[in-house]
Parts: sequence; structure tokens; C-alpha cells
Amino acid sequence: MEINTKPKFSKKINGVYIDPQIFTFRFSCKCGGECCNYGVYTDLKEHEYILSIKDKIIPLLDESQSKKVTEWFEEPEEDEDFESGVAVGTEIINGKCTFLDKNGLCTLQKLAIMESEHKWKYKPIYCVLFPLTIFEGALTIDDEHIDRLKTCSKDPIKETTIYDACKEELLHFFGSEKFSELEKYKDEYLKEYYSGVEKNGK
Ligand code: SF4
Ligand code: SF4
Repeated sequence: MEINTKPKFSKKINGVYIDPQIFTFRFSCKCGGECCNYGVYTDLKEHEYILSIKDKIIPLLDESQSKKVTEWFEEPEEDEDFESGVAVGTEIINGKCTFLDKNGLCTLQKLAIMESEHKWKYKPIYCVLFPLTIFEGALTIDDEHIDRLKTCSKDPIKETTIYDACKEELLHFFGSEKFSELEKYKDEYLKEYYSGVEKNGK
């Protein structure tokens, strides 16, 4: 059955709706990576890619991680917010994502840096995007995850929005052309937003 619901947001870039709250939500990121303690959902293709490079990952794992590849991922599940329609969660081992080492570093990112590749080459896109996420087809704030973390944005910086904090990540996600479109939309949205604030403030 197809349900025709009205989209919640008006702007769509590269097939993804944009929740304009990302332009005004105040944020700070200065903890040691608590967000990795719950693991992440990877797309089926990302999960296959990670498994295809297991021989390079295994030597980098420390004693707090599992070298058994079968212990790295949960069972796949259907999820429309993933490109292939299937999500595969990483397992939690010793209270953290299977790929997080004892020093709080992501082994996938460590591998890419060691190979002089782009730091996010092997990293699941939802890890790159957090504290943003894609939910029901829209780029939005992952407030559910932020809320359950003890340190994440608990002391937001007045001048810094979640958008400001995630510019590099958004550029990576959208590519430069679509990111410019996002910047333009942000400027238009904020102009209207602040003129509304001024009017209401009178
Ligand atoms: S996103 Fe949040 S939990 Fe992750 S490192 Fe930044 S402040 Fe910490
Ligand atoms: S894959 Fe890496 S960045 Fe993503 S949750 Fe696991 S340790 Fe963190």
C-alpha cells in the first residue's frame, strides 16, 4: 500500500529533504567520542566493503576489540533510509562499537590515514554525518542519539550551530556543487528566519 503523505520539508537536495532546524540548532562537540559507544548502522554495501578489507583491519585491532569477523555485525534489516534498502548494525564489544579501539579511535579511520587516503574512505556515512542523520528521507538532527549521550552538546556554544560544526561532513556527503546549493538555501532560510524573529520581537 502506498501512503501519500505531504513531505515535512520543502527543500530537497540530491534526493534528500533538508530539515532547516540544522541551521539554527546550537551545538558543541568536544568530548572523546561517546557517540561511538552505541555502534552505527551501515548500509549493506558499506558492510560488504568493510568485510572485503578485513585483512587490513584485523592487524590494527587491539585487545579490547574482536578479531572474529563474524562478531563485527548484527543481522541485516530492511531500512528505507539506506541506499540499498538494508541496514547492518555494528556490534557493541566491551561497551563500544566493534571498530572503536581502546584509545577512542575508529579503526576504519585509522586505516585510511595510515594508507594516506581520505580519512573517511572506509567510514560508514552515518558515522561521518553524526550529530546529523538521514531520517525518513530528510537530513536532520539526530536528537534521539544526542539526548541519550552524557556529553554530546551538553554545553552548546551560542554562536555555533550544528550546521557550522558539520560543514566538512556535509561537503563530503553532498559534494561541492550540491553543498553550494545547501549554503544558498541556508542563507535564504536564515534571512527569513531572522526577519521573523525581529518582527515577533517587536
Ligand atoms: S558528536 Fe557528540 S558524542 Fe560525538 S565526539 Fe562530538 S560531542 Fe562527543
Ligand atoms: S565505525 Fe568507527 S566512527 Fe563509526 S561508530 Fe564505529 S568506531 Fe565510531
